[in-house]
Amino acid sequence: MTKKPPLIIPIFLPFAGCRSRCLFCNQKATPDEVLSPFAVRPFIEASLRTLPSHRSHREKQVAFYGGSFTAMEKEDQISYLREVQPFLSSGLIESVRISTRPDRLDEETLARLKALGVKTVEIGVQTMVDEVLLRSHRGHRAEDTRMATAHLKQEGFEVGHQLMIGLPGDTFARFQETLDRIIDLEPDFVRIHPTLVLRGSPLETLWRDGIYAPLSLEETVQWLKSGLLKLERSSIRVARLGLQPTGDLERDTLAGPFHPALHHLVDSAIFFDMARHLLQNNPKGFRVLFLCHPGDVSNLRGQRNENLLKLREAFGLEEISVQIGEDLPRGSLVLKTKTGNTSIHRKELVNHAN
Ligand code: SF4
Repeated sequence: MTKKPPLIIPIFLPFAGCRSRCLFCNQKATPDEVLSPFAVRPFIEASLRTLPSHRSHREKQVAFYGGSFTAMEKEDQISYLREVQPFLSSGLIESVRISTRPDRLDEETLARLKALGVKTVEIGVQTMVDEVLLRSHRGHRAEDTRMATAHLKQEGFEVGHQLMIGLPGDTFARFQETLDRIIDLEPDFVRIHPTLVLRGSPLETLWRDGIYAPLSLEETVQWLKSGLLKLERSSIRVARLGLQPTGDLERDTLAGPFHPALHHLVDSAIFFDMARHLLQNNPKGFRVLFLCHPGDVSNLRGQRNENLLKLREAFGLEEISVQIGEDLPRGSLVLKTKTGNTSIHRKELVNHAN
């Protein structure tokens, strides 16, 4: 059985360490919104107290998100991490995670992070195409990501890559190039989210001036579908597709493919392709039955049964039924017809994907 990811106690340090603003960012460094090092200990204690008992046995990890942790002053990094040490010593917290930029991870920094209990480092990679990085005002190059990942892995850190699609200058081919280069670096996990036009970000001006147009939701699903399949085939865990939906995000999104259940949309698109592949040689007018793992039923049906309705129409089927196959592995689909059974696993789909 695969180990469950740790339970995260998130501490947001918006814009921490940032000296310039990325094109897509609308974070503000309002001092009273940023948790001071002194507030870290009570915050963790309160978070531990409110953990539901059924989750209390899971590994717990304190995560410093927002901004670029290792671009803060050295003393500030130490001040924050020092506050977690009592919890690490007592075993109430197992490890620490930070997110940062790839060009601020030199040897001295890695040694400091290691000594203070950091296990996981998430790097804001965004893309492995330098022109797209430049146009997004990231201030680092793809080579920084390559070097940072290699050093982190060498030092035994767990490495996560945060990617974005649809930045200015990005194309489907460039996203494929990014994925290929990321896969070569073998991060432990990846997050991908689409570029949204956020109120107050520099990108808002480009969008209002008609210079930038975000991806549509349909394009986003197609790009992410191919990305997810590629990463799964390379055994790289995809921790998340799309940003965590919050009231603030919904309110501040002016344009772009925001969807609260983006991962489900992508999984549904994958199951639609799998079902379509199995139905290709099926005579019209028949009744068919699909079998899948219980956890995949909603992926097969799609939102509001959309997949089944589209398949019925496309293949002229009289009826499509769905049954749970308790013994079937997650990600597989079996088609039962009068003429016999055929099956496919989502890992095989990459050859048939658009
Ligand atoms: S590094 Fe993160 S927080 Fe800092 S400007 Fe870029 S997107 Fe915003």
